[in-house]
Parts: sequence; structure tokens; C-alpha cells
Amino acid sequence: MFEKILIANRGEIALRVIRAAREMGIKSVAVHSTADADAMHVRMADEAICIGPPSSTDSYLNVASVIAACEVTGAQAIHPGYGFLSENANFVQALEDHDITFIGPTAEHIRIMGDKITAKETMKKLGVPCVPGSDGGVPDYETAQKVAADIGYPVIIKATAGGGGRGMKLAKSAKELENAFRTARAEGKSAFGNDEVYIEKYLGKPRHIEVQVFGDGKGNAVHLAERDCSLQRRHQKVFEEAPGPAIDAETRARIGKICADAVANINYIGAGTIEFLFEDGEFFFIEMNTRLQVEHPVTEGIFGVDLVREQIRVAEGNPMSFTQDDLQIHGHAIEVRINAEKLPNFSPCPGKITAFHAPGGLGVRMDSALYTGYSIPPYYDSLIGKLIVHGRDREEALARLKRALGELIVDGIDTTLPLFHALLDEPAVQTGNYDIHWLEKWLETNLGG
Ligand code: ADP
Repeated sequence: MFEKILIANRGEIALRVIRAAREMGIKSVAVHSTADADAMHVRMADEAICIGPPSSTDSYLNVASVIAACEVTGAQAIHPGYGFLSENANFVQALEDHDITFIGPTAEHIRIMGDKITAKETMKKLGVPCVPGSDGGVPDYETAQKVAADIGYPVIIKATAGGGGRGMKLAKSAKELENAFRTARAEGKSAFGNDEVYIEKYLGKPRHIEVQVFGDGKGNAVHLAERDCSLQRRHQKVFEEAPGPAIDAETRARIGKICADAVANINYIGAGTIEFLFEDGEFFFIEMNTRLQVEHPVTEGIFGVDLVREQIRVAEGNPMSFTQDDLQIHGHAIEVRINAEKLPNFSPCPGKITAFHAPGGLGVRMDSALYTGYSIPPYYDSLIGKLIVHGRDREEALARLKRALGELIVDGIDTTLPLFHALLDEPAVQTGNYDIHWLEKWLETNLGG
């Protein structure tokens, strides 16, 4: 059993982990940059240690400093949260060498899933349906022309090391292929240090459906149904819900079993998400995230389980605390991501919070590290809070979300709050009838940007 764990992260996700640890009687260590000395995770943890200057490269991403903080404080394990070092196989390897437990999957699994071509090949072998496309990497433009003609236009060129929506280029026709191919390669090279690309059929109106899986590292795994995260801006999710409004019970059980079996087969440990595009009743694998997702609370909402607690438990070597049969869906949950950004351009808007009030009441959860008087530093992600609601059904969840949004006060900076007020009045959102392109089109029409 762990007595003390270190959280290699900041913001709301650091609080999320501290909360789970505290309920388990485990002491927590926060790490922070000099810019975060007054941050809530520093106040809330049992201990805090400064690991470097504001730039995340020199602090939250600095492997040597994080490991040193662990050694100084005697923490036995590290929870990485999401982002930062959460999917860094070299970091996980380094922890192994220092006898520190990583609360997450093995370095090998992170490596396999971090390379999109290897991930796709692995999933295909495990029986997971994939988007039609090239067999592995496409070395040059001539090959790209042949592959694209075979698949049929439109196609999407993807950097194998890509992430966060970067390193992806659409070619609607043969005319656009050369430019798309070269730009995807260049972006892969400059952003991820790897210019290998592959080609996929571009789906015109899919939904983004992702299956939450969980394994014990000993060949047992379950699925916790799906989340629909189709409302995206620039490939970034802004609104997520579970269960997916377009997925029926039979489909859920079928794709859930495929995913659970796949991760059981590779002895996967901890939380993972298998992401799909879903079009005309068919699933197409796009990638697997080997960590806790930002949107995990909607899954916790409908199943009533604590995924972080479960991550810590299996990292300690315990079995999972639930079986597939224990996992029954109750009601509907929705999350909105509130960013410190100014509409209509979503430009970052850090600054001092002059008043903060979180909504409350039945079925409302606010995961945020804000407090009145806090100054949001300009160095990090603009996510300042996640508002999560749960209702007996989708309609109740939507009404609750509208009510809770009305109670939320964030004064002193601009936020994306007005976007959600407007979205909730949209028939497509009310009926759950949208694909991954819906929000971009809506923004163009309604915000002009
Ligand atoms: P990243 O790792 O950058 O997040 P993903 O492969 O997960 O990249 O894709 C991110 C988003 O890009 C998807 O949610 C979807 O909106 C879009 N996308 C990816 N692949 C395709 C495809 N084959 N057809 C259409 N859209 C796609």
C-alpha cells in the first residue's frame, strides 16, 4: 500500500488526484513551478515542493526534478494526471530505474500507443475495427498518390507521432495531396521530431465515440461504456457526454467487449481510452490514450465509480474493485470545459479572478482549481474548470447544466462560458444530433470565427 504519492501535474487534475488519495488515507505531494506558488494544488496537498521556473519544460516536464522531488519527500508513486509526462515512455522507464511506481500503464504500452502506426497495427491484430488506410508509413509522395487513389478521396494525412490535432492534413482531391502530404510531414518533424506519416480515408460526418477501458495488468479488463465527444473545435473537445446519444445497448455491449478483450489480451494496466470515429453504425479506431482523460468525470457520473482510486488500487497490485457485471449505467452525464479564453477568437485570457463561485446542488460537480483572488498564470493550458452534471436522463442533465451554468461566477477574466449558454439553446445539442464538424460550422455562422 502507498503511504505517500506525488502528483506530477497542476490545476484541477492535481486536485482530483489529491482528493482520491486523501479518501484512501494516502498523503499527497504537490510539485509546482515558481509561477504556481499560490496555486490551489499547492495549498491542498499535504506537502509541496518547487521544481523549477514557470516554463513547463523546466518544471512540470523536467523528469530529473520530478524524480528528485519524489526522493526528497519519500513518495512511493507518481500520478501523472493528463498532459505533461502522462504519456512519456522515457519518464516511466526512468521511474522504474528509481523504484518509483508509475500510476498508469507500462512504458511499453505507452510506446506502442504513442506511435499511431504501431497502435493501429496492434489494434487491428487484436480485432479492433480501424479506418481504411495505408498499411503503415507512406515513405514518399509517389506512394502517397497510389495509396490515396486506392482508398479514394477525400483522405487525411497523419503524422505517426502527432497529437492534439497537430500533424493532420486533409486532401479533398488529388490536386491537394502533394501539399497536404508535405505539410503533415513538416509538422510532424517540427512539432514531434518525426516526419513519418500515414494515410486514412477521411470520414465526412462521423461522431467521436471513445470507450473507457480499465485493466489490472494481469489479463483482466472491463469497459465502462462510451463517451460522445463530437462537439470539438480544432480537434479539441469542448462538451462531452455519457452514454453516447447515438449508441444503443446492443452496440455498446459489442464495441465495449471488443475493447475490453483487446486490452485484456495485452495485460494492460490502469485506465485507457480507445477512440473511434463512428459513422453509419460502424466504428473506426483512431487512437488509444494511455492515461486518465480530461472527460473521465462523465463516466464516473454514470457508473458511480472513482477512476483515480481504481488507478491507485491497481498500481498497488490490487485487483479491480468491480467486474463487468457490476458496471451498470445510471442516468446521463455531461461535461463542459471552461477555458480562460475570449470569444469569438478563443484568445487566451489569463489574469486575476476577482470573484469565483462554483455552482452546486443535486447532480452538479465542479472540478476547478480557481479561487477568488487567484491569478491565472499565462504559461499553461487555458482550461480553468470542468462543470459536470448528472441527471436521470439526458433531458434532465441538460436542464441541470443550464441551471448550473447560470450559477457559475468567474469575474475578472473572459471565459468560454457564454458559448455554452448559447449551445444549450441549439436544437442539435438538445437532441444530441451532431457530428464532429457541427461545432466548427456553428461557430462560423454564429461567432464568425
Ligand atoms: P490527435 O492525436 O491529434 O488528437 P486523432 O487521431 O485522435 O488525433 O484525431 C483527432 C480528431 O481528428 C478526431 O477526433 C476527428 O475529429 C479528426 N479525425 C481524425 N481522423 C479522421 C478521419 N480519418 N476522418 C475524419 N476526421 C478525422
